[in-house]
Amino acid sequence: MRRRMPTKGISQIWLDPQPQGLRAVYLVEARDQEEALEVEDLFAELETDLQVRQLCRGKLFSYAVKTQHDQQQTLLELEQALRSNFGFVILHRSFDDVIYKIVSELCVDTGSDLLPMTHCDICGKLEPFPDTVINLADRGGATIASGAYCGVCTAAFAATSNKEFLLSLLHADTRDFSALESAELVRARSRKQDIRFRIQSRAEHAAANN
Ligand SMILES: [Zn+2]
Repeated sequence: MRRRMPTKGISQIWLDPQPQGLRAVYLVEARDQEEALEVEDLFAELETDLQVRQLCRGKLFSYAVKTQHDQQQTLLELEQALRSNFGFVILHRSFDDVIYKIVSELCVDTGSDLLPMTHCDICGKLEPFPDTVINLADRGGATIASGAYCGVCTAAFAATSNKEFLLSLLHADTRDFSALESAELVRARSRKQDIRFRIQSRAEHAAANN
């Protein structure tokens, strides 16, 4: 049975556009505490330019990164920096099940901690960088729930309008958002790049249709 999501209090829903970019996974072995700190510092610095998700830590450190645009050069520089500073470095130029399995197995072998990972809320695939993110928030903008969807699911639910797209993703979500299906969504103005809708109250809806 699908988990029924509390939808009370939700007054706005928006689609957060995610930039297209290159993905890569890095695995680095830290031989001592000093190297461990160096790796963590290096990836912390990168977060200003790239999206970074840490996959594990311990003796083995692994990160998935996604560039904002076509930052091929940034990835090459990162690879060089890692190879010249650390003895054991693996680079994989995408994020997929194969590399994640390698990371998990090496975590077991080295006694490192595999960190919790986000997944697509429709198909369940591990997804550090979802293609589409939907936020559901209260009047003040505080997030009540959110949905993250992989590229395959995003493409499968492509629709003629943004509203239809958003509702079809929520409908396919493994959690139950059906309470929202009868809501009246009206396009709201937004200062940011997102596509935002406001949930119209029944009274407003009645007034608008009179
Ligand atoms: Zn999916």
